[in-house]
Amino acid sequence: MNIADKLVREHRLTETEYAELIRSYEDKNLSKYLADEAVRIRKEVYGDAVYVRGLIEFTNICRNDCFYCGIRKSNPHAERYRLTKEEILDCCGSGYQLGYRTFVLQGGEDGYYTDDRLADIVRTIKARYPDCALTLSVGERSFESYRLLREAGADRYLLRHETADAKHYRRLHPPELSLENRMRCLRDLRRLGYQVGAGFMVGSPYQTAECLAEDLVFLQEFQPEMVGIGPFIPHHDTEFANEPAGSVELTLFLLSVIRIMLPHVLLPATTALGTLSPVGRERGMLAGANVVMPNLSPVKNRKQYELYDNKICTGEEAAECRGCLANRMKSVGFTLVTDRGDYKP
Ligand code: SAM
Repeated sequence: MNIADKLVREHRLTETEYAELIRSYEDKNLSKYLADEAVRIRKEVYGDAVYVRGLIEFTNICRNDCFYCGIRKSNPHAERYRLTKEEILDCCGSGYQLGYRTFVLQGGEDGYYTDDRLADIVRTIKARYPDCALTLSVGERSFESYRLLREAGADRYLLRHETADAKHYRRLHPPELSLENRMRCLRDLRRLGYQVGAGFMVGSPYQTAECLAEDLVFLQEFQPEMVGIGPFIPHHDTEFANEPAGSVELTLFLLSVIRIMLPHVLLPATTALGTLSPVGRERGMLAGANVVMPNLSPVKNRKQYELYDNKICTGEEAAECRGCLANRMKSVGFTLVTDRGDYKP
């Protein structure tokens, strides 16, 4: 039995097998085979539904200095902003009208958002929209902080592990950030009953097939409910400004592998994928993804949440974004739905 067949039958491989599979990603027959299997599996679990998450980028102020990120603290050119509670609630209001039943609050690690302030926002959103799920993506915090936010009503948490290889992690982050703490956070979130999302960038500097194989083995063991992967894209004000962007083809290949490995996973076709290819998100669906995350942030702030260069969807109003995505999904046979889009165990 070859490796691809083994993955389809057993939904798991060894690290060596993943590395070998990844090294063959340019083989068109192989990627087509895996994409077809991924779409078949995705349809068995989730049908043709595409779940929508309204993404509210509520602060670009960050205490961290991740080498790849445009909003890292040492970028003096980033124009900083922070939304008020009212602005965040306005975003939810327009999202709700458009049929979104999940809101994602994402931001830099901004000290202004203490546990009390953030819990108050979570509580208010959940009281106003009790039929909606609320996802947080606000980085590394203490167990106690995650506990308070969970008690306030947060349902899900996105925290990409970024890379499961400790050496690679150190080449992407300053010494005060560690893979160990990132993993501690993911375990804490799991213990507290969040639906948890992990993930990584494809093609980040120094990444090898072996690093990616470690990422896949980590996902296979951790079994997250959500996985966020997207290509690395350089940002002109970071030390990785001259590094090449990640490959769209490899990202699509990995989406298929992850869908086959974790049939029930909620898997977005990310904005970064749409940034590198005009039909990246549609191709993501055809590779096994089933989630899109349109931008719900105020138009005046969208360009300021610049993690990487040339980010798409920074000029459109929320309603245009929804219409555009609905058409894009329809063009490849999928339907945007009004649903919380919870994990189906
Ligand atoms: N601060 C939170 C955290 O650390 O999880 C959430 C915000 S952070 C900006 C969200 C994600 O953006 C990161 O997990 C990272 O994978 C991604 N990202 C940052 N810079 C990027 C780049 N240059 N290209 C692609 N993705 C990037």
